[in-house]
Amino acid sequence: MERIVVTAAAIWREGELLLAQRRPGSHLAGMWEFPGGKLEIDEAPEEGLKREIKEELNIDIHILGLATVVWHRYEDRVVLLLVYHCQLQAGEPQGMEGQAIGWFSPKAALDLELAPADRTILENIINGGPGF
Ligand code: C5P
Repeated sequence: MERIVVTAAAIWREGELLLAQRRPGSHLAGMWEFPGGKLEIDEAPEEGLKREIKEELNIDIHILGLATVVWHRYEDRVVLLLVYHCQLQAGEPQGMEGQAIGWFSPKAALDLELAPADRTILENIINGGPGF
């Protein structure tokens, strides 16, 4: 079974989280997720996350710290997600790959069709503390 290490960002602004919809043709197409992506070999997690967020959303982020770590078993792969609490540092987010994006309160985000691993992440964030 393929094992993938992924970093993802819980980007906070005024009590809301920035989420993105996965693109058509991708794994879990159309489902909402915390933006991020695969870590490259030898890449530090924080650097990989900043790179992915710049590529996907054209923003710079400030990483506040680790929010949660989630293992998720999909049918054909196992994903380890390292999720960081973040804030916008520079820029206004845009879906650079055509993906929809939006700001949601944690409670409103529960009503989205979330990728399964991302639902666990959101629940951990809601249960784990006040957020930023
Ligand atoms: O985004 P990317 O396709 O690089 O992600 C790699 C894997 O991690 C995919 O299998 C995707 O479903 C999973 N993933 C996830 N939740 C995220 C980001 C990625 O389940 N927030």
